[in-house]
Amino acid sequence: MKNLLVLLLGSNEGDSLNNLNKARLLLQSTLGEIQISSSVYRTQAWGKTNQPDFLNQVVIMNYTGKANEALEVILTIESNLGRKRNEKWGPRVIDIDILYFGSKIYNSVELTVPHPALHVRRFTLVPLVEIIPEFIHPVLNKSQQQLLDVCTDTLEVTKLL
Ligand code: AMP
Repeated sequence: MKNLLVLLLGSNEGDSLNNLNKARLLLQSTLGEIQISSSVYRTQAWGKTNQPDFLNQVVIMNYTGKANEALEVILTIESNLGRKRNEKWGPRVIDIDILYFGSKIYNSVELTVPHPALHVRRFTLVPLVEIIPEFIHPVLNKSQQQLLDVCTDTLEVTKLL
């Protein structure tokens, strides 16, 4: 069965726009065709704020495999693009998070879906609202638009292209 795999791409190190482009190409050649891409947004760094702005983008694909297989592919793509796992919330060449896998719910350390922080981050909600405003968060039972309406995050999120 196909499930909508909703991913957040982020980069704030090196040529971030190019890093997002490369990540999308690698995702297409491994997990399948990207059905919808949001605009690219320039966003203020969250958590550890004294670092360069991020570029963020949400992409959606129809995926027939299992969530843990998608995660494995994603971790390989991150490492192929030069991602080093050092400081938490530090600068990164590429970060790929699974936001939603259809309406499925996973609750392990390796994979928590829906992503546990998506509803407190404007940099995630703004692109989600651009492309799937009505989609219901399967745990919080609110649409993306409703989640954004009540989100208290004030960090800037600006559409780049
Ligand atoms: P990060 O440093 O934010 O890229 O975290 C990556 C780690 O978080 C990976 O080792 C994953 O196993 C784990 N993880 C848990 N839930 C998710 C998710 N929804 N999307 C991506 N990684 C996840």
